[in-house]
Amino acid sequence: MQIIRDIATLHRAVDALKRDGKSVALVPTMGALHDGHLSLVRMGKRVADHVIVSIFVNPTQFGPNEDFAAYPRDEARDAALLADEGVALLWAPYVAVMYPAGHSTHIEVAELGADYCGAARPGHFDGVATVVAKLFNQARADIAIFGEKDWQQLAIIRRMARDLDFKLDILGAPIARDTDGLALSSRNAYLSEAQRAAATALPTALKAAAVAIAGGADVGESLAVAEKAIIAGGFDSIDYVALADADSLERLSIFRTPARLLAAARIGKTRLIDNLAVG
Ligand code: AMP
Repeated sequence: MQIIRDIATLHRAVDALKRDGKSVALVPTMGALHDGHLSLVRMGKRVADHVIVSIFVNPTQFGPNEDFAAYPRDEARDAALLADEGVALLWAPYVAVMYPAGHSTHIEVAELGADYCGAARPGHFDGVATVVAKLFNQARADIAIFGEKDWQQLAIIRRMARDLDFKLDILGAPIARDTDGLALSSRNAYLSEAQRAAATALPTALKAAAVAIAGGADVGESLAVAEKAIIAGGFDSIDYVALADADSLERLSIFRTPARLLAAARIGKTRLIDNLAVG
């Protein structure tokens, strides 16, 4: 597996991969890889001839008081995992390569980026959309794969690809969970043992709410019950628990399909997100 850090070398390597009409799938990540990331890589291997993984902890999607500096980084371990999966190329640019001095153009996400994580993290999705657009142009893949774990992000990337006429297919991969139901996340590494045990309250509450809502229970009441259960389970605060149209992300007070429960909650200094289909 080649590890590449400059754009000219990347272009040559991608040209070589695409020779003879071979297809390429891109899996963008911020590293600290776990089985959730690797499930995206495996999907890439099924749908394309070659898989490119990017690892870039993107400073522009972190707020001033967020965990950019502390975000877990272990490129040697990540590279070994990716090589074992048969990844062709690891694209791991430095910040100065991604954002050279004078970089001054960015993408602004309206509407889909306003609520949920966008409300809790102002500017976050502008940073995500900008770096993902750059990764699309850099990697020139035929397919890009994102996790359903970040449901709002996936919806925003799909919309961006459509709005800006990117010529690639966006695929969503199901959420990979630990045996107790907690969605795998690089940020789970921040949790103490007690917090890790308590964190299952989030998927458990979402599952109960999904069953209740699909069974005809009042949406507002079901969301309130879920919030109470998440706090009772050991979380310190809730950013949002909402029922949303799965595509437009419009908040729903009356259940209709396709719908998705979306949630973000904080335990200690760690912010965890999760989501679940309803019905
Ligand atoms: P990140 O490194 O957190 O930016 O995630 C990179 C990609 O992996 C994103 O498309 C995420 O949605 C996806 N991802 C992260 N965790 C999971 C998970 N537990 N299951 C499926 N996909 C995931």
